[in-house]
Amino acid sequence: MTDQYAVVGNPVEHSLSPEIHAEFARVTGQDMAYDRIVAPLDGFRETVLKFRQAGGKGLNVTLPFKHEAWELAATRSGFAAAAGAVNTLVFRGDAVVGYNTDGIGLVRDLTRNLRLPVRGKRVLLMGAGGASYGVMEPILREQPQLVVVANRTLDKAVALVERFASLRSCAPDGVSARPYEALAGATFDILVNATSAGLTGAMPPVPEGVVAPGALAYDMVYARRTPFLEFALRQGARVSDGLGMLVEQAAESFFIWRGVYPETRSAMALLRRRMIQ
Ligand code: NAP
Repeated sequence: MTDQYAVVGNPVEHSLSPEIHAEFARVTGQDMAYDRIVAPLDGFRETVLKFRQAGGKGLNVTLPFKHEAWELAATRSGFAAAAGAVNTLVFRGDAVVGYNTDGIGLVRDLTRNLRLPVRGKRVLLMGAGGASYGVMEPILREQPQLVVVANRTLDKAVALVERFASLRSCAPDGVSARPYEALAGATFDILVNATSAGLTGAMPPVPEGVVAPGALAYDMVYARRTPFLEFALRQGARVSDGLGMLVEQAAESFFIWRGVYPETRSAMALLRRRMIQ
């Protein structure tokens, strides 16, 4: 029987995950099906358990349920435990195991696709929402020189940095939280926009001059040239949207479920072609 997987969210109709996993299944020859499931806002747990009872093997979880998925998972993988968010569930017997693959997706996109090692780099992480929690530990494990988290609501950046305090020694020059205006005078080699500002045509209020020569500016929002990427281009940075992260986090989920790591270039090319149609 074909193994069943799905992405659960609300809304979920715009998710690209079914196309990505269909391409992975094609290139690896795996017999699996992957759907979208809309869960009622107050019915995430019931939706997951019903899917499992029907024989489902695993789920991706998207907004707004990543924290509920974390609560539901009896066992959490290393990165999911600290992130407080789960985007991948796998059913092992009666156990529900939770993973967070977002940060692995970002780091693989940076290091493999964009060929930019994080080690020794000065990293600016903008935003202190779920996406930032997901990427913080994987970034720190790469041993950057320093990480600064900037957020409109400073308290949230402070809480994020506190949450990962035990990993502070991974970055020799430290991990700190700052308001955007306090970034003036500093420069960064990797600038990651993990805010949702680009979705509304806005950008985080990052001051001019923060882009170091040869820097990469990365916006997790994908399939559009956001105001942040336009800003970074004007400052002379290399830029990337978040499509590679999306595909790489999906590849890690696929590996967790199927034990096979898919080649990701064809899925990336497929989505790029679809977006320019
Ligand atoms: P979230 O939990 O809602 O957090 C949103 C963050 O954006 C908060 O830090 C918020 O600041 C900030 N923000 C929103 N509008 C802003 C503005 N105009 N100026 C400055 N800051 C602003 O969202 P999330 O789950 O972290 O996701 C963030 C983005 O990453 C989303 O666009 C999501 O689609 C994207 N994402 C992409 C991938 C991928 O695979 N490419 C994976 C995960 C997420 P305050 O705290 O001050 O409100």
